[in-house]
Amino acid sequence: MRSVDTAIVWLRRDLRLADNPALNHALEAARRVIPLYIHAPEEESPWAPGTASRWWLHHSLDALDSELSRCGSRLVIRSGDSEEVLRAVIAESGAGLVCWNRLYDPATVPRDKSVRTMLRNLGVETASFNGALLREPWEVEKEGGGMYRVFTPFSRRYSPGDLEAPPLPAPEKLPAVRKSIGSLSVAGLGLLPGVPWYQSFDDYWQPGEAGALLRLDDFIERGALLDYGTTRDLPGQDGVSSLSPHLHFGEISPRQVWQAIRHASDEALDQGSGDAAERAFDYLRQLVWRDFAHHVLFHLPETASEPFNDRFRDFTWEKDPALLEAWQRGRTGIPLVDAGMRQLWHTGWMHNRLRMVVASFLTKNGLIHWLDGARWFWDTLVDADLANNSMGWQWTAGCGVDAAPYFRIFNPVRQGERFDPKGDFVRTWVPELAGLPAKHIHAPWRAPASALKDAGVRLGNDYPEPVLDIARSREEALRRFKAAG
Ligand SMILES: Cc1cc2nc3c(=O)[nH]c(=O)nc-3n(C[C@H](O)[C@H](O)[C@H](O)COP(=O)(O)OP(=O)(O)OC[C@H]3O[C@@H](n4cnc5c(N)ncnc54)[C@H](O)[C@@H]3O)c2cc1C
Repeated sequence: MRSVDTAIVWLRRDLRLADNPALNHALEAARRVIPLYIHAPEEESPWAPGTASRWWLHHSLDALDSELSRCGSRLVIRSGDSEEVLRAVIAESGAGLVCWNRLYDPATVPRDKSVRTMLRNLGVETASFNGALLREPWEVEKEGGGMYRVFTPFSRRYSPGDLEAPPLPAPEKLPAVRKSIGSLSVAGLGLLPGVPWYQSFDDYWQPGEAGALLRLDDFIERGALLDYGTTRDLPGQDGVSSLSPHLHFGEISPRQVWQAIRHASDEALDQGSGDAAERAFDYLRQLVWRDFAHHVLFHLPETASEPFNDRFRDFTWEKDPALLEAWQRGRTGIPLVDAGMRQLWHTGWMHNRLRMVVASFLTKNGLIHWLDGARWFWDTLVDADLANNSMGWQWTAGCGVDAAPYFRIFNPVRQGERFDPKGDFVRTWVPELAGLPAKHIHAPWRAPASALKDAGVRLGNDYPEPVLDIARSREEALRRFKAAG
């Protein structure tokens, strides 16, 4: 029984048809359904989508519009204040219900509350759902109540047997949207940056729901899932899923991923792989980290810009624009750091091991504020996500919840020797050093002159001398962090 004639599905970071509870509810409740996207970046200030995210969003909206059209509908795109746009579309369509999937960021929570009040005052029904997380931030609480600040006890509330309810299927047909409901084109939003530095992203990504499903299938089919525990730390190998931008934009739900992984591990178990479930849990644990990051940001919204640990409130960070720029451009003279930063610039994504290495280098060896690094990531990552990015930076800088202690400073040379032992990853992204043998590639400044000559490398010419001394900067950082505590 339909409860209203027309419903609006207000799509935000849930740009998919399958396992979309808001869309599903609208289809059950109404005869007509208007899929609406409102472009209102200022409402997410100061963390409106960065440049790389806008590239992704442009293509993701295009892909969603095509999928909707295939099913007989279309995406209605508007720009402006969310409340005003919703009021206008309700007036044009007579919609009696607005549905959405919830967001948890400091800017979107109050905005959505205010939208709900406005709609209720208009006499319009509202319905909101969890479409983005395995468990919502308030669902996982300590025994006596209250949030978790440490991951391990938080994660104990999840088990591989959780979340058995199957994901909702994608609708095959959708009701048409009346012609009179006007829409901007995706191009009309002007999301693509003026300087086309993002062109190489096309070689790496297929934004949209179909691209997300392909990525997930490929991760399972190539057997990476069952090796994840051993290869996830090796940036030169294809050991991770690269699902992060798809998850961020909601082109696939974490529940879909969870179920597909569980299914694949059951199949492996049937085929005699006795520890398949445990190995799959290594991967599922990362989805729980994602929930944990959202749990923390929801309960402590100030941690997007303030240190979680008070000890760091008055810490004096260095202002060193030259060092910051060398880091951003991948020209620090430390090969592993440069390789990671160039991977980021060319692909809009960086391997997790590298994210930790480059963040530790900037904040600990360089003593540059973690927010400077977080802002650069925000602008250049296609998966920039406020919860994950804030937690990742604070964790590495040592000032976050469950953080790496201040004395844990990643040595980028040793990290390279351990996680890129043959130097393949460095050779891919720092081709100037491609001719150096593995034993010198992570510290070319220590290589004998003959090795450099044979490889055709003139340090300071073809490739920079290190911008800082790793051992000395480490000592200085330890002294300063200790004094702060
Ligand atoms: C300094 C720093 C900044 C980061 N910024 C972001 C960010 O802006 N956006 C983002 O999605 N992740 C961020 N991460 C977390 C992590 O690096 C990425 O999620 C991961 O590298 C994405 O690659 P993947 O999809 O192949 O991950 P996989 O290894 O395949 O993991 C699967 C999924 O689990 C989640 N996940 C994995 N690791 C983490 C983690 N440490 N914390 C939270 N969730 C995780 C992601 O959604 C990921 O897609 C950051 C980490 C650090 C150290």
